[in-house]
Formats: sequence, structure tokens, C-alpha cells
Amino acid sequence: MATGVCRSDWHGWRGHDDDIRHYLEKHGDSFVPGHEASGVVVEVGSEVTRIKVGDRVAIPFILSCGNCRECDRKRPTVCEDQNQPGFTMLGTFAEYCALTRADRNLKIIPEGVSFVEAAALGCRFTTAYRAVLQQGQLCEGEDEPSHKKTVAVFGCGGLGLSCVAIASAFGAKRIIAVDVSNNALLKAKELGAIDTVLSTLSTDTEDYDSQNGSVFRNITALTDGVGADLTIDAGGFKQTCLDSVFCCRRGGRMVQVGLPANPPILPMARVAGREITIIGSHGFSSVNDDREVSALDHILDLVKQGKLQPNLLVDREVSLKEGVQELMNMNKSSPIGMVMITTFRDSISKM
Ligand SMILES: [Zn+2]
Ligand SMILES: [Zn+2]
Repeated sequence: MATGVCRSDWHGWRGHDDDIRHYLEKHGDSFVPGHEASGVVVEVGSEVTRIKVGDRVAIPFILSCGNCRECDRKRPTVCEDQNQPGFTMLGTFAEYCALTRADRNLKIIPEGVSFVEAAALGCRFTTAYRAVLQQGQLCEGEDEPSHKKTVAVFGCGGLGLSCVAIASAFGAKRIIAVDVSNNALLKAKELGAIDTVLSTLSTDTEDYDSQNGSVFRNITALTDGVGADLTIDAGGFKQTCLDSVFCCRRGGRMVQVGLPANPPILPMARVAGREITIIGSHGFSSVNDDREVSALDHILDLVKQGKLQPNLLVDREVSLKEGVQELMNMNKSSPIGMVMITTFRDSISKM
């Protein structure tokens, strides 16, 4: 019913993803991207009991196995045998998609939440949820609960904007958004950023000097010389990564959630001397377990209540055919917010 066009799909299409390369080596020369989707179940496998034909479902983009060491210790985002539509298996840029491990991973969309909202949750919104709340621990800590924490988000594409929206929904005291695009920063303000910092750099320069850069100076000034409690590299560039480390306060937390294609050498003396916690965050996974409310149920509930509005991140809706063009154009200009494929039939009629 709906599937987002994501920069990860563009990377996959360009050949930057090892999983897709392995798939092609094994199964031939064609592939279907797409991993941020929602839809209606039309058929189930013989062992599926929880999910039924006709169910409206949201698809977390990591389909964890439930059998490996990491799943055993409740770390499904780093499942040793994860399936990812659009990466390890055929994806959702299609009228129909076969998904594995449905009972464990698929989530029923509650009444009052649309397919577009459900699709807009994954991967960027749910990835941001994990980065800000689970790995970033925005709401943890007695001395500094969320309403006392300053969050700085570096890189305001779809993922960074989602981080801003989630930090805002969960009561961060102050959110500082950093990007090279004024339009992205305007959108960040709409979603809850209090301060914005325009970074003037637009390339991944080799000799980037964060400590003498304008982003570090601006954020230091905005935080009275302290730095942000939680910094998030949502861009995955050398600058965004280094700025996230340098702008983190003493004893603060830095989350690496953007995937750095070209990672910098980190100032580990600073990390040690200031006791900065650097932590990685990978996607999102939410399994069905009767013993606890899953994170995705929690998110869907917040959407239903209107506390989270992932639809604000949807820039426009397009057809499957137009979506292909959007994918190929992604390197030219990253759209502010998401492009969502919601019409699939135009491509069927031509077959
Ligand atoms: Zn597993
Ligand atoms: Zn994605």
C-alpha cells in the first residue's frame, strides 16, 4: 500500500551494499529495492499463526531470526541472521512482496493509523527512535532526565529530521539541528528544533578541523561552553561524525547512526579525557513477544494519539514508476523529507 524511497535504496542501487551484491551473486542479475513499507496480507505460509489474511501490517526493516545468540539476549537489531527486504531479499518496490518470519516481526497497524504513516515509520523514524531513546538514552538518568537534556543532531536528511521530531516528542530541553541546507534547517524548526546551525561545508574534506570549525564554535556558544548532552551523527560524513564527538559535553553520549562511508580518525584522547560514551545504533527491530509491549507497538500508539506525526516528514506521494525516477535522482538533490510510493497499479497495467 505504501513504501518509502530511501537513500539506502539509492546506495544499494549504486552497488554500495554488500548484501545486495551477495544476493545477485547467488540469484542472478535482477533485484527489487524497498524496505520502508506497509500493506495488506494476501497470503500466509503454513506455519504462520499470528498474522492473518486481510491484516494491515507494518514491516520493521530488520526481520530478526529469533534463534541466534543475539536474538537470545534480546538484541534483534544485531541478529546474526537478519533478513532485510530490499537488501538480503527482494524488497517492497512492488505490488506484492514475500516476507519471512512474519509472526515474529510483522506488526498489526492499529485503527486510526494510515498506511502512509506506518510506512513512514520505517526505516528512518524507527531508526531515529532507537538512536535517540534506546541507544541515546534521552529519557534515562535521574540527574538529567529528558527535560534537562540538550540534543544536537548533525545532518538533517530524513533520518536526522526524524531524530529531531522524536527528541522533541520525548521532551528534550533543547534541540540543536545542524545541516548544510537552510531548507532542511527550516524543516527541523518545524519539527521541534530550537536552534539551528548552518554548516558551510558541503564536501567530505580530508583535513576537516572540527575544533576550529564554525559548527563547534556555534554549539559551544549555544550551550554556554558545555556542549550537548546527547549528540547524534545522522549524516554519516566525516564532518558530522567529528562535530558530534567534539560538540558532546564531558560525560556525554554520542550516537553514530548515519553510516559513514568514509569514517574519520576520531580524537580518542578527547573521548577518554572527557569520558564521552560513543555508541552505535543500527536500524530498528521489534519482535512480537507476549511478555512485553514492543517498541513498535509503543511508536504506533504514539502515532495514533498524535504525539508522533511521521506524516509531517512525507514530502510527496508518487507512483511506483515515478518512484524509480526519484531513486535515481537521489544523488542530485536529497529531498527534504520522504518520498512515498502509494500508487502501484500504473506499472501493472503495462505488463
Ligand atoms: Zn537472530
Ligand atoms: Zn530506509
